[in-house]
Amino acid sequence: MIKLHDKIFKPYIKEEQILAAIDKMAKEIAADYKDETPLFVGVLNGAFMFVADFLKAYQHPCEVSFVRLSSYQGLTSTGIVETLLDVPDEVEGKSVIILEDVVDTGRTLKQLVHLFSNTNVKEFRIGTLFYKSDVYNGEYTIDYVGLEIPDHFIVGYGLDYNELGRNLREVYQLNQTDMINLVLFGKPGAGKGTQAGFLKEKYNLKHISTGDVFRYNIKNGTELGNLAKSYIDKGDLVPDEVTIDMLKAEVEKNPDAAGFIFDGFPRTAAQAEALDNFLESKDMKVNATIALEAEDDILVERLLERGKSSGRSDDQDESKIRNRFDEYNEKTAPLKAYYEKQGKFHSVNGIGEINEITKRLGKVIDSL
Ligand code: AMP
Repeated sequence: MIKLHDKIFKPYIKEEQILAAIDKMAKEIAADYKDETPLFVGVLNGAFMFVADFLKAYQHPCEVSFVRLSSYQGLTSTGIVETLLDVPDEVEGKSVIILEDVVDTGRTLKQLVHLFSNTNVKEFRIGTLFYKSDVYNGEYTIDYVGLEIPDHFIVGYGLDYNELGRNLREVYQLNQTDMINLVLFGKPGAGKGTQAGFLKEKYNLKHISTGDVFRYNIKNGTELGNLAKSYIDKGDLVPDEVTIDMLKAEVEKNPDAAGFIFDGFPRTAAQAEALDNFLESKDMKVNATIALEAEDDILVERLLERGKSSGRSDDQDESKIRNRFDEYNEKTAPLKAYYEKQGKFHSVNGIGEINEITKRLGKVIDSL
């Protein structure tokens, strides 16, 4: 294990594996280009070590140059890709092969393709040492791949976490075992949102409420909001596919979170399985599912009261509220057995003073 800034990273890909992958790439590219003189363009800063080892493995005529782009800050891609060092002069008529250290969402690639779009290159190919196929948007063909990897945050071999770690000879991945990921379970009105607000402060967790994300999208008239609105207005569940994709995107936005509180997700068996698979792909897991228990009549009263001030249409009509309970009983309640089987289900009495209930939840979390 190594520590870079505030984070712990564990060994992930050995030097020999990296060099073998580079050797394989060099052979593949040589098969296509050894009879001409391609121009390799490394993408700084991350690819400097890769390019050096690649060129040692590629012993045929070639030229080399670099562009410099920047999009990551800390563990999060900022989404804005800046060009800090532009396309080399005299690329016209040449076969250009981009050498990237890692391709994930494809945002940097977009910028690269844009950079070369006005140059009269003979051919434009893309090679990457590491390829996160799960998150790549698939916009451009990746011609040469060293190693396919899941969506882990990695450092070493040229890649950094806030500029540290570039000189490591092997690749390390973020160690997620200290994370706490909680599912807050319970019927509408059980107090999940209120309690999540306290727990996120106490345990430094990122709170994701799928209901809140939907409402935010509805308010802003996004495509997702328009799609979800008809379901939410009736008190029905939004289709799984839409909800699962949205949840994943919310998690992806917070790669440096110390853990998550999932509030209102999962609500169906398909969502629970998708969550487990998704977290596993990121070396994460659900640590506990905590249900806030309360009787229907009390919940109806609470929700109607909330509806007076929240303006939520699904809180203002008893039949819609009862429909949400039906959805819960039919689709969500069976998840209790799913989590019990994993030994992760905890039940907490959701009736009483708010701070008393927070204490009950804290007891469960502290015992994990
Ligand atoms: P909530 O704020 O959690 O009560 O959610 C409000 C509404 O958003 C629900 O009644 C559903 O229509 C929709 N919704 C929220 N989370 C989910 C989910 N995990 N699956 C499907 N629909 C959801």
